[in-house]
Amino acid sequence: MIILPYTMGKTVMASGKKKRWISPAMWLRYGLLAFILIYITYIGVMHQREQTVFPPVDALCPFGGLESLYSILFHGQYLNRIFISSFILLGITVILVFISGRSFCGWICPLGTLQGIMGGIGRRITKRKFPLSLKTDRPIRYLRYPILVVFTVGAWIGGKLLIRPYDPWVAYMHLSNFADTIDEFPIGLAILVSTLIMSLFIPRFFCRYLCPMGVFLGILDRVSAFRLERNRDTCINCMLCDKKCPVGIPVESMTVIDRVECLSCGECVPVCPVPDTLYFTLAKKRLVTPIALGVMVIVVFFGVIGLTKALGVYKSTSPSVKEMLMTGTISADEIKGYMTLDDVTQLFAIPIDTLYARLSVDPSIVPSNTKLKEIKSVLKNDFEADSVREVVSRILSESMTKPPEESSDLPSPQSIRGTQTIREVAVQFDIPLNELYRELDLDSLAIPPDTPCRDIKNLAGDEYHTTAVRRAVERILKN
Ligand code: SF4
Ligand code: SF4
Repeated sequence: MIILPYTMGKTVMASGKKKRWISPAMWLRYGLLAFILIYITYIGVMHQREQTVFPPVDALCPFGGLESLYSILFHGQYLNRIFISSFILLGITVILVFISGRSFCGWICPLGTLQGIMGGIGRRITKRKFPLSLKTDRPIRYLRYPILVVFTVGAWIGGKLLIRPYDPWVAYMHLSNFADTIDEFPIGLAILVSTLIMSLFIPRFFCRYLCPMGVFLGILDRVSAFRLERNRDTCINCMLCDKKCPVGIPVESMTVIDRVECLSCGECVPVCPVPDTLYFTLAKKRLVTPIALGVMVIVVFFGVIGLTKALGVYKSTSPSVKEMLMTGTISADEIKGYMTLDDVTQLFAIPIDTLYARLSVDPSIVPSNTKLKEIKSVLKNDFEADSVREVVSRILSESMTKPPEESSDLPSPQSIRGTQTIREVAVQFDIPLNELYRELDLDSLAIPPDTPCRDIKNLAGDEYHTTAVRRAVERILKN
């Protein structure tokens, strides 16, 4: 076996045949990308089955954190479907930009991996790349800036995840429920399919021309301490780096590769035949080999997630209806598409007839055990869980503001919390303790008055959640 001088990436065998060669750093990168793609696909499939156990796609995307940033800073609440996990992931990607450029895009993003796989298949079939001419490529790359502004500012002003219907990654994560994907995300699915087809010919098509997250990280990358540099004195202008770059950066003609498109993937470094000609720097120190870059990405990404999980801060799923009933603290904003109409009446102590009437839904067509997100396919219209949130929030605020003749200083029974004890509830509503016990059909010896409402069920059975106390108080106040 003879190794050609200055040749890395291909080895010439004694027979004269060339054998492909992959550097350890790239093995690490491909392994990490494959692991994340497989794991996240599994989460997507499982979320369609167990929505309170496996996180939704929105909780796993840092762009959701950016969309919800205004709402959390100025209103102190997340946009619907966003969890603290989205902010933690956004924080990680920002930290990574400062110490390793757009390494989130090059080493982690599963949509990038899918495009990379399609690019590999495309090259196998066509044996060539189809780069757009500079004249066409440049203006299309600027498309990402208005996309970033429209979807971020739009979400900030509108209070909604505006990109969701158009997001190819959201469509991908719903694919295991194909009928729903076509129904709910037809545009996202069309963009996903187009992206994958275009990636056969133009590597990383979505990253190059459409991704708003990529361009946001690219802008931050301008002030990053991390750089890819080329030594002009030792470079032999072989252009191998240009050929390898998945986003078409003309590395060979640059000294500091500071283009917003650079993914910090490190693909160009091991193919360079002259040692130490292409190298990464951190704070101007030539310390970072591609393998060190990969290790740094893994440590920061999994380290921060692991640490926040250990501290109990990381949260990416909604509590189940049962857990909500136990804590007794829920607002209309927390109504989710996986809940049924029965769940909503239970959680908010709203009579089912009132809910049907206020939603203008016919109970003979939509049974009360229908999931909110399925109502629109039963009714064949554009019914959304948002309508239920609005109606419930209106009913709750109406119950808080009674008409003058009925008004009193008493708060609404809806305000009873799971942490309040039976005695506190009786005092708060000026109800004799024994009357409250009678209405609840409970024995004060078995269930002491200092029992918090959420714990009654542990002693008296599952039907005694906080809502049962709210209903009992409501009945007493009515009589
Ligand atoms: S310049 Fe190098 S590190 Fe940057 S995207 Fe291209 S191949 Fe990857
Ligand atoms: S940096 Fe390395 S791979 Fe790129 S042109 Fe120069 S010698 Fe070739």
